[in-house]
Amino acid sequence: MRNFCVARNKKYMQALTNRAKPVDRRPMTLLERAYLPAIFKGMSITFGHMFKKAPTISYPEKTRPFSPVFRGLQILNRDEQGRENCTACGLCAVACPAEAITMEAAERKAGEENLYREEKYAARFEINMLRCIFCGLCEEACPKDAIYLSETFAPANFQRKGFIYGKDDLLIPNPVTEPEAYAKAKGNRAAVKS
Ligand code: SF4
Ligand code: SF4
Repeated sequence: MRNFCVARNKKYMQALTNRAKPVDRRPMTLLERAYLPAIFKGMSITFGHMFKKAPTISYPEKTRPFSPVFRGLQILNRDEQGRENCTACGLCAVACPAEAITMEAAERKAGEENLYREEKYAARFEINMLRCIFCGLCEEACPKDAIYLSETFAPANFQRKGFIYGKDDLLIPNPVTEPEAYAKAKGNRAAVKS
């Protein structure tokens, strides 16, 4: 049995190490010495690529279409009257595997019914984008359709604190006062969801 294994190993070792390729040392023909066929072949490949559709895109002027399941920057949603949907229940923070969400709840006061849909709202809502892995679990956990992941990237920043997104950064524009900005922020992804 041992002899069989040794013989088999020798065979494999030979197969692995014996990779030498014999060099073709035939003298070049006149055509080959002129290099013209090789030059024309190379130029034909170059010109062929000139008339092909470029695979690159001029970002950010042009962007690729997103996948229907793309998950980007979070957005805090409002209802059709422009009131904040979030009730600061904390379910998104509990569901978040990266512990990226923090918030502070507050009671809605009389006269604030046009600002907050429910009696409780998030006075402070923060997402640490350096922690977020864009898994979408916060969106799935939310019972109020108050948070969803949009088709927008979290932009680059030079400072760590620039990646802590507060309510000002996350809240969708008001659909009553800023309908165009609202529609743009809502995007196609939200349309699929609703
Ligand atoms: S997308 Fe995932 S990681 Fe990011 S805040 Fe939501 S639950 Fe947390
Ligand atoms: S976003 Fe949704 S889950 Fe998170 S605190 Fe607000 S209502 Fe609750």
